[in-house]
Amino acid sequence: MIYAQQINLPVIVEYMAIAELDLSALFHKYNLNFRRLLVYTGVEKSRKYACELVAANDHLQLDLVSRTVNSLSFIEQQRRKLLDGNYDLIVGVGGGRVLDAAKYLAAVSNRNFLAIPTQISTDSVASPIAVLRGEHGENTYSAKVPMGIVIDVEALRRSARSYIAAGIGDLISNRSALLDWDLAIAAGYERANYFARALSTFSFTNVAPDSLSHVTDTTFLRRYADSIVMAGIAMAVSGNTRPCSGAEHLLCHAVNDMLDCPYSHGFLVGSATPFCLHLHGQGDPGVIALCCELGFRLDFMDAFAPDIRVRDVFERARTIREDRYTILSSMSCAELVVRYGEFVDSLSTLDTASGS
Ligand SMILES: [Zn+2]
Repeated sequence: MIYAQQINLPVIVEYMAIAELDLSALFHKYNLNFRRLLVYTGVEKSRKYACELVAANDHLQLDLVSRTVNSLSFIEQQRRKLLDGNYDLIVGVGGGRVLDAAKYLAAVSNRNFLAIPTQISTDSVASPIAVLRGEHGENTYSAKVPMGIVIDVEALRRSARSYIAAGIGDLISNRSALLDWDLAIAAGYERANYFARALSTFSFTNVAPDSLSHVTDTTFLRRYADSIVMAGIAMAVSGNTRPCSGAEHLLCHAVNDMLDCPYSHGFLVGSATPFCLHLHGQGDPGVIALCCELGFRLDFMDAFAPDIRVRDVFERARTIREDRYTILSSMSCAELVVRYGEFVDSLSTLDTASGS
């Protein structure tokens, strides 16, 4: 039994240019005070943004660590440096890998964490989970939810459109993830969490009506970033990835496990979502149209794993997280293969076809 609130949530969500970000003023606005800051960033573009941040805050004690690899061994080195240096805030500046390393570093060193994403292609910015490379390859680890998030809309606009499309794919997948959660609750395997559910639903509906023609608009980019933050908070509130990860994520992980897949996480889960909705009997023409416009491949197994038997992908997906009850758990592999065939056949009747 837990007798105290155990959730960290962001108290800062601000939109401002990194080059103009006065951290002292920001902290003062939120009644916060930090003495010594470690800025964790990547190389090239991320580092350029981080250097702008350092230049704009030369009145603060602020040191820069620049690194491309998000390995556990490197983070352990940094943890010792952090403790020796008396840093009281970690500032992550960069994309998903950088922020994952920074949020994990903050967790293992028990320091505060400020996230400044320079590109966003998944819903992980505010989530309590980091993907890191250990001795046995990449794995997920518990990490610190940022106490603050500062988003530079111009940086997002300058990032590749494919990152934003992938991020929308990760948000669209909430739709099927929530149906899986409902299924697991009905089967008695999970408890409902209405607040987490509402946040996850918001993060999807807030971006769903838009198309790629809008993704560089400031209004859309702010809504997109809001949705990404809310999805992360949904996971923090539920204490796991349930509100944002269901069968479509299991299928994505299975494809990635079985072959060297060059496609991004958001592209894969977004591509698999319409099929998972079909399994739930909730086929949605609006979602299909949006996925096609985003360039997703709804016939994802034929597109991404043509040399692997569809049945093998289902079998692998069912072993990825055996404690996670989803629509894949409720049917036999033979039935799933039939339903996938039906779904792909149904795509040929659509004007939008399969995103190719
Ligand atoms: Zn995801």
